[in-house]
Amino acid sequence: MITVNQALDQLFALADLLPVETVPLRAAAGRVLAEPVTANRTQPPFAASSMDGYALKGVEADLHAQFKVVGESAAGSRWDGTLKPGQAVRIFTGAPVPEGADKIVIQEDVTRSGDMISITDDPGPKDNIRPAGVDFEKGMVLDAPRRLSPGDVALLASMNIPQVPVRSAPVVALISTGDELVVPGETPGPDQIIASNTYGLAAMLEGMGAIPRILPIARDTIPSLTAVLELAQGADLIVTIGGASVGDHDLVAQVAGDLGMERSFYKVAMRPGKPLMAGRLNGTPMVGLPGNPVSAMVCGTVFVEPMLAAMQGLGHTLTPRQSMPLGADLAANGPREHYMRAIIENGAVRDAGAQDSSLLTVLARSNALIVHPPNDAQRSAGDMVDVITLS
Ligand code: AMP
Ligand code: MG
Repeated sequence: MITVNQALDQLFALADLLPVETVPLRAAAGRVLAEPVTANRTQPPFAASSMDGYALKGVEADLHAQFKVVGESAAGSRWDGTLKPGQAVRIFTGAPVPEGADKIVIQEDVTRSGDMISITDDPGPKDNIRPAGVDFEKGMVLDAPRRLSPGDVALLASMNIPQVPVRSAPVVALISTGDELVVPGETPGPDQIIASNTYGLAAMLEGMGAIPRILPIARDTIPSLTAVLELAQGADLIVTIGGASVGDHDLVAQVAGDLGMERSFYKVAMRPGKPLMAGRLNGTPMVGLPGNPVSAMVCGTVFVEPMLAAMQGLGHTLTPRQSMPLGADLAANGPREHYMRAIIENGAVRDAGAQDSSLLTVLARSNALIVHPPNDAQRSAGDMVDVITLS
C-alpha cells in the first residue's frame, strides 16, 4: 500500500494542465487567473475626498476660522476652479479635491450660514483626502495563477478589465455505482438507499471552479458500468464512487481495465479511504473513490481537490493544513493515516465522535479533519496536531 503523499504524486502526474480561455468578468469568480493582468488606469484617478464636508486650505483650518463657499464638487462632477485663501468648496465623498485645497473639514465640524461657514469643532490633523493612485497605479499587476475571490473580481472591475484569462473549468464526470442506489427524490425499494456521494462531491467540486456532471447511476453489472463509463467520455476527469473493493459486486477496476485503463495505483494507507484507485482511461484521468459516503468526501478533500487545483495551474500542493492545539485527548493511531472528523471550537480541535465512514451526520456537524499520522502515540489536550478545515 502506498502513502497519501505517494498517491498524491501519482495523481499530480495524471493531472493535465487545462487550456486557457477568456471569460467575461461576471463568470470569473472561483476560476483560476491564468495570466497576469495589468491595470491600464490609476485608482482613484484624482485626489478624492473621503468624507462629506468642505475643501479648503489646511493652514487656514483653525477653530472659529471663516470661509466663503464658492462652489460644489460632487462625485462625478468636479468644481473646476482654483481655491483662493479664505475660500471653501462644498464637497462630497468620492468627489475630486479642487486645485488649491489640501484638506477636507467634515461637515460635522462646521456651521454654515448662507454662503459662509465657520469651523466650530476642532477639525483635527486628518486631511480626509485619498491621493490619486492610493489604491493602485496604472501598470499595477495582479499576479497569476490565483483563484479569483470576490475581492479579486471587484479589483479587476475597478481596473476596467471586462474579460479575464482563466484556466478552463474542469468538467468532472461523477459516477455512483451500486444496485442499492436511487437518486434523491425517487422512491427507494425496501433494500435501497439514496445516492448521496455524487451530490456532496458535486457541491465540493463546484467550490473548486469545476463543472460536475452527475451521470446515471451504474448498476453492479458489466454492461451497465461499461455504458456509464462510456458516457463519461469528453470529461477532463472521471470520478467513480464505490465498487472499488474486492467484493463480488465490485466491478469498477475490472470494467475500467477491460476498457483500457492504465492503472497508477490501487489502495492507499489511510482511513477512511483505503480502496482508492487511479489511472488513465483512454487518455482521461480517472479516480475511483470508495463508496462509503464519508470516505468519498474525505478522499474528495484530500485527493480530488488538489488534483483539480493542479489541472487549473495552481501547482502541486496539498489541501491546506494548519497546526492547532487539541481540545481533548486523542487515542493512539494504527498504521494508516487517519483523517478524523473533528470540531474546531474556541481555537482548539477535538474529534467529533464516532468515526465510522458511513456517518454523514458526524461529517455534517464537523468543520475540520484532524490528520492523525500513522502509528502516532496517544496525544493529550494541548498537544499540536495538523488540521484541514472544511468549508
Ligand atoms: P462499495 O464500495 O460499492 O462496496 O460501497 C460501500 C458502501 O458505500 C456501501 O454501503 C454502499 O451502499 C455505499 N455507497 C456506495 N456508493 C454510494 C453513493 N453514491 N451514495 C451513498 N452510499 C453509497
Ligand atoms: Mg457498491
